[in-house]
Amino acid sequence: MLSNNTQLFGTSKIMKQDEDYWLSIPEPLLNALSLKEGQTVSVTVSQDQLIITTLTPSNPQDIKVLALDLEGTLISSAVSQIPRPGLFDFLQWCHDTFERVVMYTSVNEGKFREIAHTLVQSHDAPEWLVDIEYIHWYGSTKDLRFIPNMFPEQVILLDDCEMVINSDETSQWLPIKCFDPSVSKNPKSSVLDDNELENAIAKIKSRLDAKKFEYAKTQLESLTNSKLRE
Ligand SMILES: [Mg+2]
Repeated sequence: MLSNNTQLFGTSKIMKQDEDYWLSIPEPLLNALSLKEGQTVSVTVSQDQLIITTLTPSNPQDIKVLALDLEGTLISSAVSQIPRPGLFDFLQWCHDTFERVVMYTSVNEGKFREIAHTLVQSHDAPEWLVDIEYIHWYGSTKDLRFIPNMFPEQVILLDDCEMVINSDETSQWLPIKCFDPSVSKNPKSSVLDDNELENAIAKIKSRLDAKKFEYAKTQLESLTNSKLRE
């Protein structure tokens, strides 16, 4: 049987606590999966469906990299360099959430570093942006295979421009509306009316949850199948 430190308890009602889900797994299922006391098990839920356990600590399909476009996504353009509202907090969230955050832009590296420096100086971006990993690439699309030591399936690319997305990597693309300060201006004030970066956080979170769910489901199915074969 499982003890409390296995992180599986509660009722079949799902509660969210500190970003983790705590829930119960029915006893017959625990027995069927031969979970042992003290074993570490991670559980993921999607909407109101439970029910998943992963028994392996790492998943090769996990999203490990967030690739960020620059122009139209984080700032207006390399010329006007107007930071998108919420930029600092967005970048900080990315940094806290992903193992790797990389810059994937058609702006050349020297110019990008210059822009990053300006954004840091004006407190519109955290200091680490100056030293962020920069992806070198060529061609007309941002092929995710240019990102070193990573499979495309392990990357999310946040980009406003569909034209640069590789046709067989569209599933890894997270679109964001192009940031154009001239159309984002609230006519009644000088404040820019744009909360796309905040929306992007929500979208990325749900993308990560969906990925975990998909993987956990596969794990559960394979465990159940192997159990049935015994
Ligand atoms: Mg762009």
